[in-house]
Amino acid sequence: MLKTAREYIESLRQLKLNLYLLGEKVEDWVNNPIIRPSTNAVAMTYKLAHEPKTEALAVTESMLTGKKVNRFNSLFKSPDDMICKVKLQREMGQRTACCFQRCVGMDGINATFSTTYEIDEKYGTDYHQRFRKWLEYIQENDLCTAGAMTDVKGHRGVAPSQQDDPDMFVHIVERRDDGVVIRGGKANITGTVNSHEMLLMPTLRMLEDDKDYAVCCAVPTDAEGITHIYGRQSCDTRKLEEGEIDVGNYGFGGHETLTVFEDVFVPWERVFMNGEYDFSIMLVERFAAYHRQSYGGCKPGIADVLIGATASMADYNGVRRASHVRDKIGEMIHLSETIHACGLACAHQGWKTKAGNYQSDILLSNVCKLNTTRFPYEITRLAEDIAGGILVTTPSEKDFRHPQIGKIVDKYLKGDPAYSTEDRYRMLTLIHAMCFGVVAPSYHTESMHGAGSPQAQKIMIERETDMEAKQRFARSIAGIDQREDPLG
Ligand code: SF4
Ligand code: FE
Repeated sequence: MLKTAREYIESLRQLKLNLYLLGEKVEDWVNNPIIRPSTNAVAMTYKLAHEPKTEALAVTESMLTGKKVNRFNSLFKSPDDMICKVKLQREMGQRTACCFQRCVGMDGINATFSTTYEIDEKYGTDYHQRFRKWLEYIQENDLCTAGAMTDVKGHRGVAPSQQDDPDMFVHIVERRDDGVVIRGGKANITGTVNSHEMLLMPTLRMLEDDKDYAVCCAVPTDAEGITHIYGRQSCDTRKLEEGEIDVGNYGFGGHETLTVFEDVFVPWERVFMNGEYDFSIMLVERFAAYHRQSYGGCKPGIADVLIGATASMADYNGVRRASHVRDKIGEMIHLSETIHACGLACAHQGWKTKAGNYQSDILLSNVCKLNTTRFPYEITRLAEDIAGGILVTTPSEKDFRHPQIGKIVDKYLKGDPAYSTEDRYRMLTLIHAMCFGVVAPSYHTESMHGAGSPQAQKIMIERETDMEAKQRFARSIAGIDQREDPLG
């Protein structure tokens, strides 16, 4: 059953989250002005499934049941499915201009599906069957799942089992007849408050001593023992003010939480890895590749809005035809499309896993994400360049609406008289929101650290590269090895 956006929002009201925001417990998160824009962004993933124009992207056939499912809950049955994923993410980025959160679960589902199959193959366990059952339940009820990988990590130079405080990585503290008990903290977890379920995955390679930390499982977001602490975003309290213009993107946003598990019970049917530390890295690398590919969808979609806003600002300022402005906007487009091209390429080069779903190409996915750690910085730099210094000095909406000084603000903030001051003002605050993070983690910082910081991609790029082959090519061309004879 495909939920409508309205049914999705209603379903969130049934949860009993233990959630804190700005030092206070939140009871009605669905109507909270700071949180609601992020809920709206996820609701768009439900809306697109019912729109004739986007249905082909947003809905697909379940690999498990053959029924129609939301693509965010689907397994990738072909490279084409992963291409559709990236196109859907671009569409979502264009329509929300923020992180719409639901991709982490989708990517985690696919990585867990293939990894559990291979754990079972080696150890004779039944994680894959359990996982299939859980996923059928998610698909059948069209639930939203938050993928939760990043542990808080404590001392970064020390393995999980060697930390002074054992809770720096989520781990199993007790194994019982009916399931396991887990404990620890996860940070930067996207979309938790808007999700019914969380899929917990380990965050790095593990060794034998870290056995108890090699845990993958699913828990409801409101399970006993879970606390969510809502992450701050710059200028977030603008959402509490009267009016909407100063927020920049009043309709949509993203969110992350610090989520803590204090002796949370997980029944066996929801446990998909229980100490198989040698498979931790497979799950991490597959998930990371999927999610690094995802950035080839959402980031160009968000950039489409930012480029449109920048071109509009150039119109409002009367400089749209200036050659340097056209050159800069052209550069923004080039950078954004390069990221998108990478996202499409790693889908195209995807391969079938033993479990039967498709995996994005790991080398190209990491190239996609490494570009994403750089290009949005240049894209936002150019947006700020064209928008002008007024981007960070505009008076407030209250001044703009003020009975006396409002007229002054309107007169002196005007650009090309063909456009209203209010339109210019709205476009400025939108660019401000996108560059400085009012509506989501800022576009560029999220691009840097989301789906893993740049060094993680460098390591993977090196590991996935066949350097011996490259050296062989060089030795042959240089004549050190036998040169290839085209006639031979
Ligand atoms: Fe999806 Fe992008 Fe948000 Fe990741 S950062 S969840 S890919 S919108
Ligand atoms: Fe992200």
